[in-house]
Amino acid sequence: AGTGKFFVGGNWKCNGTMDSVTKLVADLNDAKLENDVDVVVAPPYIYLDKVKQSLTDLIEISAQNSWVGKGGAFTGEISAEQLIDLGCKWVILGHSERRHIIGEDDQFIGKKAAYALSQNLKVIACIGEKLEEREAGKTFDVCFQQLKAFADSISDWTNVVIAYEPVWAIGTGKVATPQQAQEVHAAVRDWLKKHVSAEVASFTRIIYGGSVNGSNCAELAKQEDIDGFLVGGASLKGPEFATIVNSVT
Ligand code: PEP
Repeated sequence: AGTGKFFVGGNWKCNGTMDSVTKLVADLNDAKLENDVDVVVAPPYIYLDKVKQSLTDLIEISAQNSWVGKGGAFTGEISAEQLIDLGCKWVILGHSERRHIIGEDDQFIGKKAAYALSQNLKVIACIGEKLEEREAGKTFDVCFQQLKAFADSISDWTNVVIAYEPVWAIGTGKVATPQQAQEVHAAVRDWLKKHVSAEVASFTRIIYGGSVNGSNCAELAKQEDIDGFLVGGASLKGPEFATIVNSVT
């Protein structure tokens, strides 16, 4: 099992309006959250500053993406330096929607991680297999390949959290069973032990994502190698997100 603090991230994706974001921030500010949990939310870029200014300091801010290098002539992109300038502490990289809808590959994602970390932006590094890969018995191969691409570009793991998010579970309502998630989390920890170090394997948080909600979080949180969650849909509802944060055991 990991030794790191329980970590819960909310990925708001491309959702929200000024009104709904104001309401969500108010609900999060009112929520009673366990102290011993690292809580992070990732609003769309355009609301990052608003959320940073209005949300309790007990919750840190993450971006959902960042540019692969220093800012400049890259139309439509946002750089790690700009995110740091705004008070943003984290960035989600390698999310399945960016891999499979936008087409980002392992190498590009690895470079993004290296650059973000070099600018002191902490990284939520996402990995996970598609349904056909699981059915073909390739879950570990796929996860380890994605993990290796991160590991090849990360020298210091202090500021990295790994999110295991099976693609078939994201936004589908089909959550992995606690056993399915635990099996992969344990394998990921073992991979880190063999290929990075025992120390990194022990302190690195491995969080689960994919249709986590207020009803299924408690059973998942009991698993030995589940160190928290990355939450999409349910993070748009303040009270439910608080329930997930408070599922820490
Ligand atoms: C996600 O996108 O990181 C995610 C886990 O989404 P959902 O909780 O909606 O499945």
